[in-house]
Amino acid sequence: MAQSYKVAVIGAGMAGLVTARELRREGHQVTVFEKGQRVGGTWLYNPQVESDLLGLDPNREIVHTSLYRSLRVNLPRHVMGFLDYPFVKKEGGDSRSFPGHAEVLRFLEDFARDFGLMELIRFGHEVVGLERVDEVSHEWVIESRTRGMESRWEFKEHAFEAVIVCNGKNTEPNIAEFPGRDAWPGLQMHSHNYRTPEQFKNKIVVLIGNGPSAYDILKDIYPLARQVHQAIRGPDFQLKKLKNHDNAWQHSMIECAHKDGKVVFQDGSIVDADVIIHCTGYKYHFPFLKSNGIITVDNKRVGPLYKHVFPPSLAPWLSFVGLPYLTLPVLVIELQGKWVAKVLSGKVELPTEEEMAYSVQELYSQMEKTGWPKHHTHKLHPDKFDYETWLVAQLDITPPERWKQIMLMSVIKIASDYGDNYRDEWNVDKWIQEIDSSNNKSIDVE
Ligand code: FAD
Repeated sequence: MAQSYKVAVIGAGMAGLVTARELRREGHQVTVFEKGQRVGGTWLYNPQVESDLLGLDPNREIVHTSLYRSLRVNLPRHVMGFLDYPFVKKEGGDSRSFPGHAEVLRFLEDFARDFGLMELIRFGHEVVGLERVDEVSHEWVIESRTRGMESRWEFKEHAFEAVIVCNGKNTEPNIAEFPGRDAWPGLQMHSHNYRTPEQFKNKIVVLIGNGPSAYDILKDIYPLARQVHQAIRGPDFQLKKLKNHDNAWQHSMIECAHKDGKVVFQDGSIVDADVIIHCTGYKYHFPFLKSNGIITVDNKRVGPLYKHVFPPSLAPWLSFVGLPYLTLPVLVIELQGKWVAKVLSGKVELPTEEEMAYSVQELYSQMEKTGWPKHHTHKLHPDKFDYETWLVAQLDITPPERWKQIMLMSVIKIASDYGDNYRDEWNVDKWIQEIDSSNNKSIDVE
């Protein structure tokens, strides 16, 4: 008979919601702690920014989301739904293949309502402590805080048999390091705190980074800014003007910054900039977790975690959903949530603690041997789709359509083929039909 436990989920974003659904399907008693007042996590746009725009002050009030006003999804909606609940166009909504962020929020709210998840969520409850009752027990104590009378914090403790951490990975900024950074007199911010372009009118802006946020923000601000300079890490980037932009250049990384406002790049070029925006990603952050050193975060490696989810010595009573990146995020989150729920109910077995620990060590040694850096631990090396295939096999479910993987592999090429407006110009439905009729063969993605 399936086992049923009292389970807590931390966070009501995409990962927390789908995990809560899976846990309930498996018959567990679920409570979701959500520090905000609504579901959606990242997708809940907030025009507010933090008091410290670089996010270095540990005592700052945290704004969870990193969305900017203009954000449209960077993967087609066709790969952003759940396996049995696709992200379909709805009447009165944003029907584009790459909708704006509000459409994703609406999708998640509908999902939560349609599966009766709202009643499981304690809104306004921030988890500030998570600890095992004692060294041998598998019971957990969650400490939460809520705003009470006169906005004073009220603290409460709650006991659970299992806890799943779904607190998101895109809130705690990772900042670029370069000599002179702290004494540089201009405005510096992380993309976490970028919302709209107006404040950059007539400014000379340096953007650090080469990911989706750097590209989106560049596109957002170059029509208003005087100049935009994108600094990119890696040996191949040299000074060049960006195609189709009169006032935007690409450089190698920043060499140093000076007190007189000058920013010097490794390619030898120099600009007198007003603003530096660090589009340099995020760190994993679990400020509430007291694990006595069993789980550590070291250079973007959360570990040890068996298959990026279970710490071997605490499994299955503690788990993490949503850590991998550079993959199909929604699919991986859903598969992980299903896996955790079925492991807890006893329908899917885990290996022994020793075997799980060995598997983690094997991954680390493999990474070392192949020169794959530590901070890429959760990038699913060497083949991101092996991980999905492995999860699907554990769950014994029908594998997702292959075109979804091809789509992820192709998106960068397609964006460069169509240029800045790829979201509007790419006919995604036609592309899927063509891939289907070519028998799901991979297109050239080099
Ligand atoms: P989150 O959405 O961050 O949710 C975490 C939740 O936990 C939040 O509600 C938060 O309030 C809550 N929480 C945190 N700490 C606590 C605590 N201590 N106590 C209680 N509650 C807590 N993915 C795509 O598939 N397509 C895209 O186009 C795309 N674009 C993106 C653009 C940006 C700018 C960013 C930052 C991410 C994007 N992503 C995209 C990835 C996106 O993060 C995932 O799709 C997904 O939303 C992650 O969900 P999550 O539940 O793991 O985290």
